[in-house]
Amino acid sequence: MDFTVLTLFPELVNAFFAHGMIGRGIESKLITGDCINIRDFSMDRHKTVDDRPYGGSSGMVMKPEPLQSAVLCAKSRMPESKVVLLTPQGNRFNQEKALDFATKKQGLILICGRYEGIDERVYTLLVDEEISIGDYVMTGGELGAMVMMDAIARLIPGVLGSSESFLSDSFMDGRLEHAHYTRPEEFDGQKIPDVLLSGNHEKIRLWRKKSSLQRTFLKRPDLFEKTALTAEEKKIIRQWCRELETLARE
Ligand code: SAM
Repeated sequence: MDFTVLTLFPELVNAFFAHGMIGRGIESKLITGDCINIRDFSMDRHKTVDDRPYGGSSGMVMKPEPLQSAVLCAKSRMPESKVVLLTPQGNRFNQEKALDFATKKQGLILICGRYEGIDERVYTLLVDEEISIGDYVMTGGELGAMVMMDAIARLIPGVLGSSESFLSDSFMDGRLEHAHYTRPEEFDGQKIPDVLLSGNHEKIRLWRKKSSLQRTFLKRPDLFEKTALTAEEKKIIRQWCRELETLARE
Protein backbone atom coordinates (compact mmCIF):
# COMPACT_ATOMS: atom_id res chain seq x y z
CA MET A 1 0.00 0.00 0.00
CA ASP A 2 1.48 3.35 -1.05
CA PHE A 3 1.04 6.62 0.82
CA THR A 4 2.08 10.01 -0.56
CA VAL A 5 1.53 13.05 1.64
CA LEU A 6 1.30 16.54 0.15
CA THR A 7 2.32 18.96 2.86
CA LEU A 8 4.08 22.21 3.72
CA PHE A 9 5.79 20.39 6.61
CA PRO A 10 7.40 17.23 5.18
CA GLU A 11 9.76 16.97 8.17
CA LEU A 12 6.74 16.25 10.42
CA VAL A 13 5.54 13.41 8.23
CA ASN A 14 9.00 12.03 7.42
CA ALA A 15 9.62 11.60 11.17
CA PHE A 16 6.42 9.53 11.29
CA PHE A 17 7.62 7.39 8.35
CA ALA A 18 10.94 6.76 10.10
CA HIS A 19 9.68 5.26 13.35
CA GLY A 20 7.84 2.36 14.97
CA MET A 21 5.45 0.10 13.18
CA ILE A 22 5.21 2.36 10.11
CA GLY A 23 9.01 2.52 9.84
CA ARG A 24 9.22 -1.28 10.02
CA GLY A 25 6.40 -1.66 7.47
CA ILE A 26 8.29 0.59 5.05
CA GLU A 27 11.58 -1.22 5.70
CA SER A 28 9.97 -4.57 4.92
CA LYS A 29 8.34 -3.08 1.78
CA LEU A 30 4.78 -3.86 2.90
CA ILE A 31 3.97 -0.16 2.58
CA THR A 32 5.67 2.88 1.06
CA GLY A 33 5.68 6.40 2.48
CA ASP A 34 6.58 9.49 0.50
CA CYS A 35 6.26 13.24 1.04
CA ILE A 36 5.87 16.00 -1.50
CA ASN A 37 6.51 19.55 -0.35
CA ILE A 38 3.76 21.71 -1.82
CA ARG A 39 6.08 24.72 -1.56
CA ASP A 40 8.39 23.15 -4.17
CA PHE A 41 5.62 23.85 -6.69
CA SER A 42 5.21 27.51 -5.86
CA MET A 43 5.38 29.69 -8.93
CA ASP A 44 7.29 32.70 -7.60
CA ARG A 45 10.72 33.35 -6.16
CA HIS A 46 9.29 33.95 -2.68
CA LYS A 47 7.89 30.41 -2.71
CA THR A 48 4.39 31.71 -1.97
CA VAL A 49 1.71 29.04 -1.45
CA ASP A 50 -1.10 31.13 0.08
CA ASP A 51 -2.96 34.34 -0.63
CA ARG A 52 -5.70 36.56 0.81
CA PRO A 53 -9.30 35.36 0.42
CA TYR A 54 -11.49 37.00 -2.22
CA GLY A 55 -14.28 38.93 -0.54
CA GLY A 56 -12.08 39.70 2.46
CA SER A 57 -11.92 38.09 5.93
CA SER A 58 -9.16 37.00 8.22
CA GLY A 59 -6.62 34.29 7.42
CA MET A 60 -5.04 33.06 4.22
CA VAL A 61 -6.08 30.47 1.66
CA MET A 62 -3.82 27.90 -0.04
CA LYS A 63 -3.41 28.76 -3.73
CA PRO A 64 -4.66 26.22 -6.28
CA GLU A 65 -1.70 26.16 -8.71
CA PRO A 66 1.01 24.70 -6.40
CA LEU A 67 -1.51 22.16 -5.08
CA GLN A 68 -2.50 21.10 -8.57
CA SER A 69 1.16 20.66 -9.62
CA ALA A 70 1.89 18.69 -6.44
CA VAL A 71 -1.10 16.38 -7.05
CA LEU A 72 -0.08 15.85 -10.70
CA CYS A 73 3.47 15.03 -9.57
CA ALA A 74 2.14 12.46 -7.08
CA LYS A 75 -0.21 11.03 -9.72
CA SER A 76 2.65 10.63 -12.18
CA ARG A 77 4.36 8.42 -9.57
CA MET A 78 1.19 6.54 -8.56
CA PRO A 79 -1.40 6.86 -11.38
CA GLU A 80 -3.97 4.51 -9.80
CA SER A 81 -4.07 6.23 -6.45
CA LYS A 82 -6.97 8.02 -4.79
CA VAL A 83 -6.67 11.71 -3.90
CA VAL A 84 -7.90 12.42 -0.38
CA LEU A 85 -8.18 15.88 1.14
CA LEU A 86 -7.97 16.16 4.92
CA THR A 87 -10.66 18.60 6.03
CA PRO A 88 -12.93 18.93 9.07
CA GLN A 89 -15.82 19.04 6.58
CA GLY A 90 -15.13 15.57 5.14
CA ASN A 91 -16.55 12.08 5.70
CA ARG A 92 -15.72 10.87 9.18
CA PHE A 93 -12.72 8.51 9.36
CA ASN A 94 -13.29 5.36 11.43
CA GLN A 95 -12.20 1.72 11.65
CA GLU A 96 -14.64 0.71 8.90
CA LYS A 97 -13.07 3.24 6.55
CA ALA A 98 -9.55 2.19 7.57
CA LEU A 99 -10.44 -1.42 6.79
CA ASP A 100 -11.95 -0.42 3.45
CA PHE A 101 -8.79 1.47 2.41
CA ALA A 102 -6.54 -1.37 3.64
CA THR A 103 -8.55 -4.00 1.76
CA LYS A 104 -8.68 -2.09 -1.52
CA LYS A 105 -4.95 -1.36 -1.24
CA GLN A 106 -5.38 1.56 -3.66
CA GLY A 107 -2.54 4.06 -3.15
CA LEU A 108 -3.50 7.22 -1.25
CA ILE A 109 -2.41 10.77 -2.01
CA LEU A 110 -3.21 12.74 1.14
CA ILE A 111 -3.48 16.54 0.82
CA CYS A 112 -2.80 18.39 4.07
CA GLY A 113 -4.29 21.87 4.22
CA ARG A 114 -3.02 24.76 6.34
CA TYR A 115 -4.22 28.30 7.10
CA GLU A 116 -7.98 28.74 6.48
CA GLY A 117 -7.94 25.81 4.08
CA ILE A 118 -7.53 25.43 0.33
CA ASP A 119 -9.03 27.14 -2.71
CA GLU A 120 -12.48 25.63 -3.39
CA ARG A 121 -11.61 24.79 -7.01
CA VAL A 122 -9.06 22.23 -5.84
CA TYR A 123 -11.90 20.18 -4.31
CA THR A 124 -13.84 19.95 -7.52
CA LEU A 125 -10.91 19.45 -9.88
CA LEU A 126 -8.52 17.22 -7.97
CA VAL A 127 -10.05 15.54 -4.92
CA ASP A 128 -11.71 12.10 -4.95
CA GLU A 129 -12.76 12.10 -1.29
CA GLU A 130 -12.72 14.52 1.64
CA ILE A 131 -11.96 13.01 5.05
CA SER A 132 -12.25 14.38 8.56
CA ILE A 133 -10.74 12.73 11.63
CA GLY A 134 -13.27 14.33 13.99
CA ASP A 135 -15.46 17.30 14.80
CA TYR A 136 -12.70 19.71 15.80
CA VAL A 137 -10.44 22.03 13.84
CA MET A 138 -6.66 21.57 13.82
CA THR A 139 -4.07 23.89 12.36
CA GLY A 140 -3.12 21.47 9.60
CA GLY A 141 -3.94 18.17 7.95
CA GLU A 142 -0.66 16.41 8.80
CA LEU A 143 -1.87 14.88 12.07
CA GLY A 144 -5.01 13.70 10.28
CA ALA A 145 -2.94 12.11 7.49
CA MET A 146 -0.78 10.37 10.09
CA VAL A 147 -3.86 9.13 11.98
CA MET A 148 -5.23 7.69 8.74
CA MET A 149 -1.96 6.08 7.63
CA ASP A 150 -1.35 4.57 11.06
CA ALA A 151 -4.82 3.05 11.32
CA ILE A 152 -4.73 1.74 7.72
CA ALA A 153 -1.15 0.42 7.75
CA ARG A 154 -1.66 -1.77 10.83
CA LEU A 155 -4.45 -3.57 8.94
CA ILE A 156 -2.13 -4.54 6.07
CA PRO A 157 -1.21 -8.21 6.58
CA GLY A 158 2.31 -8.54 7.95
CA VAL A 159 2.71 -4.98 9.23
CA LEU A 160 1.87 -5.93 12.83
CA GLY A 161 3.92 -9.11 12.59
CA SER A 162 2.58 -12.62 12.10
CA SER A 163 -0.15 -12.56 14.75
CA GLU A 164 -2.55 -10.14 12.97
CA SER A 165 -3.74 -9.11 16.40
CA PHE A 166 -5.90 -6.38 14.85
CA LEU A 167 -8.62 -8.99 14.22
CA SER A 168 -9.73 -8.77 17.86
CA ASP A 169 -9.29 -4.99 18.09
CA SER A 170 -12.06 -2.66 19.14
CA PHE A 171 -14.60 -1.89 16.37
CA MET A 172 -13.52 -4.85 14.19
CA ASP A 173 -16.69 -6.77 15.16
CA GLY A 174 -18.73 -3.72 16.18
CA ARG A 175 -17.70 -4.03 19.86
CA LEU A 176 -14.92 -2.70 22.11
CA GLU A 177 -12.10 -5.14 22.78
CA HIS A 178 -11.99 -7.16 26.03
CA ALA A 179 -9.76 -6.27 29.01
CA HIS A 180 -6.07 -7.26 28.96
CA TYR A 181 -3.81 -8.34 31.84
CA THR A 182 -0.11 -9.18 32.03
CA ARG A 183 2.33 -10.09 34.83
CA PRO A 184 2.29 -9.77 37.82
CA GLU A 185 -0.72 -11.87 38.82
CA GLU A 186 -1.44 -9.46 41.67
CA PHE A 187 -0.85 -5.71 41.43
CA ASP A 188 -1.56 -3.25 44.23
CA GLY A 189 -3.96 -5.70 45.84
CA GLN A 190 -5.81 -6.43 42.57
CA LYS A 191 -5.72 -9.98 41.20
CA ILE A 192 -6.31 -10.98 37.61
CA PRO A 193 -9.47 -13.03 36.88
CA ASP A 194 -8.85 -16.72 37.76
CA VAL A 195 -10.18 -17.94 34.41
CA LEU A 196 -7.17 -16.43 32.62
CA LEU A 197 -4.91 -18.82 34.54
CA SER A 198 -7.14 -21.86 33.91
CA GLY A 199 -5.62 -22.84 30.55
CA ASN A 200 -9.20 -23.61 29.37
CA HIS A 201 -9.33 -21.92 25.95
CA GLU A 202 -13.12 -22.07 25.59
CA LYS A 203 -13.69 -20.56 29.02
CA ILE A 204 -11.14 -17.82 28.26
CA ARG A 205 -12.84 -17.10 24.93
CA LEU A 206 -16.23 -16.76 26.65
CA TRP A 207 -14.76 -14.56 29.40
CA ARG A 208 -13.27 -12.28 26.74
CA LYS A 209 -16.59 -12.09 24.88
CA LYS A 210 -18.33 -11.12 28.12
CA SER A 211 -15.66 -8.53 28.95
CA SER A 212 -15.99 -7.08 25.45
CA LEU A 213 -19.80 -6.87 25.79
CA GLN A 214 -19.62 -5.31 29.26
CA ARG A 215 -17.18 -2.63 28.12
CA THR A 216 -19.23 -1.87 25.02
CA PHE A 217 -22.41 -1.66 27.11
CA LEU A 218 -20.82 0.71 29.65
CA LYS A 219 -18.63 2.86 27.37
CA ARG A 220 -20.16 2.77 23.88
CA PRO A 221 -23.77 1.49 23.97
CA ASP A 222 -24.33 3.21 20.61
CA LEU A 223 -22.32 0.42 18.95
CA PHE A 224 -25.18 -2.04 19.64
CA GLU A 225 -27.42 0.05 17.38
CA LYS A 226 -25.09 -0.49 14.41
CA THR A 227 -24.28 -4.19 14.93
CA ALA A 228 -27.08 -6.41 16.23
CA LEU A 229 -26.42 -8.95 19.00
CA THR A 230 -25.51 -12.47 17.91
CA ALA A 231 -27.21 -15.50 19.49
CA GLU A 232 -24.09 -16.18 21.56
CA GLU A 233 -23.92 -12.56 22.74
CA LYS A 234 -27.59 -12.70 23.80
CA LYS A 235 -26.85 -15.84 25.83
CA ILE A 236 -23.86 -14.19 27.54
CA ILE A 237 -25.91 -11.07 28.35
CA ARG A 238 -28.79 -13.15 29.81
CA GLN A 239 -26.25 -14.95 32.03
CA TRP A 240 -24.75 -11.57 33.05
CA CYS A 241 -28.26 -10.28 33.95
CA ARG A 242 -28.82 -13.33 36.15
CA GLU A 243 -25.51 -12.64 37.93
CA LEU A 244 -26.52 -9.01 38.47
CA GLU A 245 -29.92 -10.06 39.87
CA THR A 246 -28.20 -12.41 42.35
CA LEU A 247 -25.83 -9.59 43.35
CA ALA A 248 -28.74 -7.17 43.84
CA ARG A 249 -30.57 -9.66 46.09
CA GLU A 250 -27.53 -10.15 48.37
N1 SAM B 1 -11.39 26.92 7.90
C1 SAM B 1 -11.54 25.51 7.82
C2 SAM B 1 -12.92 25.10 8.28
O1 SAM B 1 -13.46 25.75 9.18
O2 SAM B 1 -13.49 24.12 7.77
C3 SAM B 1 -10.51 24.81 8.69
C4 SAM B 1 -9.12 24.95 8.20
S1 SAM B 1 -7.96 24.21 9.29
C5 SAM B 1 -7.50 25.56 10.30
C6 SAM B 1 -6.52 23.97 8.30
C7 SAM B 1 -6.36 22.57 7.74
O3 SAM B 1 -6.24 21.64 8.79
C8 SAM B 1 -7.48 22.04 6.89
O4 SAM B 1 -7.38 22.51 5.54
C9 SAM B 1 -7.33 20.56 6.99
O5 SAM B 1 -6.39 20.05 6.05
C10 SAM B 1 -6.75 20.37 8.38
N2 SAM B 1 -7.74 19.94 9.38
C11 SAM B 1 -8.17 20.65 10.43
N3 SAM B 1 -9.05 19.97 11.16
C12 SAM B 1 -9.20 18.76 10.57
C13 SAM B 1 -9.98 17.60 10.85
N4 SAM B 1 -10.80 17.55 11.88
N5 SAM B 1 -9.85 16.53 10.03
C14 SAM B 1 -9.03 16.57 8.97
N6 SAM B 1 -8.28 17.66 8.65
C15 SAM B 1 -8.34 18.73 9.44
